[in-house]
Amino acid sequence: MKTGRLVTVPLINDKIFILGWIVSQLFIFCSVMLHLSQDVEALRGELCRKDEECREQERRLAALEQQVQERTGVIVQLQQQLEEAARRRQELQLLRDGEETLSRQAALPLQVKYVTKTVEVESAQSKQALIEAQAHNQALQEQLSVQRQLLRELEQQLHESQRSSSQLRQQILVYEGEMERAQGQLEAEMQSLEEEKNRVIEEAFIRAESEMKAVHENLAGVRMNLLTLQPALRTLTCDYNCLKRQVQDFPYMLEKAITEAKQEICQVIGEVSSANQELLRKYKREMNLRKKCHNELVRLKGNIRVLCRVRPVCAGETDAADTKNKVTFDPDDDAVLYLSNKGKLMTFELDKVFPTQATQEEVFQEVQSLVTSCIDGFNVCIFAYGQTGSGKTYTMEGVPEDPGINQRALRLLFSEVSEKKPDWDYKITVSMVEIYNETLRNLLGDNPSEKLDIKMCPDGSGQLYVPGLTEFTVESVEDINKVFDLGHMNRATACTNLNEHSSRSHALLIVTVAGFNSSTGHRTSGKLNLVDLAGSERITKSGAEGSRLREAQCINKSLSALGDVINALRSKHSHVPFRNSRLTYLLQDSLSGDSKTLMMVQVSPLESNVSESVCSLKFAQRVRSVEIGPSSSSRRQAENSSTSSSPTHDGVEVQRHKHTHPQVFMSENNNVFETFTHNFPSVTNAVATMHSLFHFSSSPVHIYTVIYV
Ligand code: ADP
Ligand code: MG
Repeated sequence: MKTGRLVTVPLINDKIFILGWIVSQLFIFCSVMLHLSQDVEALRGELCRKDEECREQERRLAALEQQVQERTGVIVQLQQQLEEAARRRQELQLLRDGEETLSRQAALPLQVKYVTKTVEVESAQSKQALIEAQAHNQALQEQLSVQRQLLRELEQQLHESQRSSSQLRQQILVYEGEMERAQGQLEAEMQSLEEEKNRVIEEAFIRAESEMKAVHENLAGVRMNLLTLQPALRTLTCDYNCLKRQVQDFPYMLEKAITEAKQEICQVIGEVSSANQELLRKYKREMNLRKKCHNELVRLKGNIRVLCRVRPVCAGETDAADTKNKVTFDPDDDAVLYLSNKGKLMTFELDKVFPTQATQEEVFQEVQSLVTSCIDGFNVCIFAYGQTGSGKTYTMEGVPEDPGINQRALRLLFSEVSEKKPDWDYKITVSMVEIYNETLRNLLGDNPSEKLDIKMCPDGSGQLYVPGLTEFTVESVEDINKVFDLGHMNRATACTNLNEHSSRSHALLIVTVAGFNSSTGHRTSGKLNLVDLAGSERITKSGAEGSRLREAQCINKSLSALGDVINALRSKHSHVPFRNSRLTYLLQDSLSGDSKTLMMVQVSPLESNVSESVCSLKFAQRVRSVEIGPSSSSRRQAENSSTSSSPTHDGVEVQRHKHTHPQVFMSENNNVFETFTHNFPSVTNAVATMHSLFHFSSSPVHIYTVIYV
């Protein structure tokens, strides 16, 4: 069966090709014939039109002949009238002759008188005869006058007849001229039509002849081909019969093949499903491995990654003193930043530094692995830290045409979860919260001024929850935009000046990603907290009072608490002071355990902001460089012993000096970079104030704070 198929297939292909060629030739022949018949049709139409024209000319000729006949009749009538008139003239002539005779007889009066007298005299008979003659004469006279009258009338008639006859003759002449002209035209037209007709017929005939010749030639070629194709057709028929037999056998073969294929498929499915089971087992193992690796990586990298972003000088900041660039970068090391402070160059080392020209996209690329890890069930916190105006909101929220981390993170989550479909089904929910003066406000709720509380779950799991916190499920970018708009609107309605208010409150976007794998039954739940912190600037400079002072104390308290919590976590302290602020308490779940935290320290490049920039960078370095184990504590001891100080208070050295007013100098490696002149009531108070200002209340730090009293 197999070999038969191998031989016949090329043969069939050849024959199909030849048959195709014949069919194409026949098509050409048919199209030529069609073309010819169209030409003949056109010629026939032309002929009909010409015939119609001829008939029209004939009709016109007949009408003209009719007119001629009518005019001939009129002429015959006129001739008859003429003859009648001539006959009357003859009669008239006769009458005239009679009259003349009578007048001549009348001219012989004597003879008649004599006769009369003779008659009178001679006989009554003659008299009678005379009377009669006279009567007769009278009658003749009357007849003569009648005849004269008649003659005059006839003469008149004759004149009129002659006039009308000459008019008619003239008319006849005109008509005859017209007729001749029309006939001449007709004949000329007939002649030209005849010539045209003959010419068209001749042309058509010639064309048809040449086309017919071509068609005949084609036909001869086709015939020849047909003759040559006949054997091919025979073999085709033979092949067809062979194929027919094969087709008849096909159902049986098919059935056999299907049964075999079914068996094979069943076998393969069995193999695949066992391979699948194996893969699933491996996948689960790999997932666990990946999580372990991730945890290991996080452990190696440190729980906290600290990045720094320096914002560019904005268009409005053209003050000559300010535009001097106080921040410089290391071209070979993107983790180092130099700050020129009072003529001294300070070096700060972080995990990564984004220079002024870094784009939102570049910043997001650095944090996107954290964002995606919350799909795997990790809790993530991203903080933007820095003084007011350093670019925290720009980095987190961005501008509509160039969005920041918040919107990019949600877009990335959407695209990642859609890639994981259909195995994984994810639900992404969003909440927005503001912490102002240590109170929590629900920015997506119906009543934004309502204060929220943080409570422990009653199920005993130790988890925290916020009763009444509004959560929106988001599925698209449009949903995110709606949620952001609502949050902004609620934030704006609760305060008089949004800019000021937002710089004194923490804004949190809490994204929860809950996933379910229908094939494995796996469930994951990760939380992404995106926090735009309140401005970190110190109040000591502004010397605020009243509500502003309270705001600043609340901000200091929460930022210090954040620093302490991070420190305690990094140092693996048994007690982590989450409860010291609303912010750390709310984020407790997301800061502890398997969580990941990223601190984006925002810095302004302006000279007037240098001291705040130093503070922010000090905070960043402290957060980053907190280390556990004896090595760091031994280093700290070594550092402490390098200064001639006493007594030691939580890593802060206090020195007594002969100054009248208490003064605080901040220094590093004996370089003083900040001086404070305040009336601190006591050294303890000074130390506490300093720590609160630098948002680090209890832990040992790398810098030295020296207080001279
Ligand atoms: P913050 O939230 O820290 O108070 P903002 O984010 O409001 O500061 O930034 C202050 C100003 O600087 C805004 O006008 C902002 O548009 C601008 N800005 C901040 N960072 C950048 C940047 N990376 N590129 C361009 N403009 C920036
Ligand atoms: Mg802001």
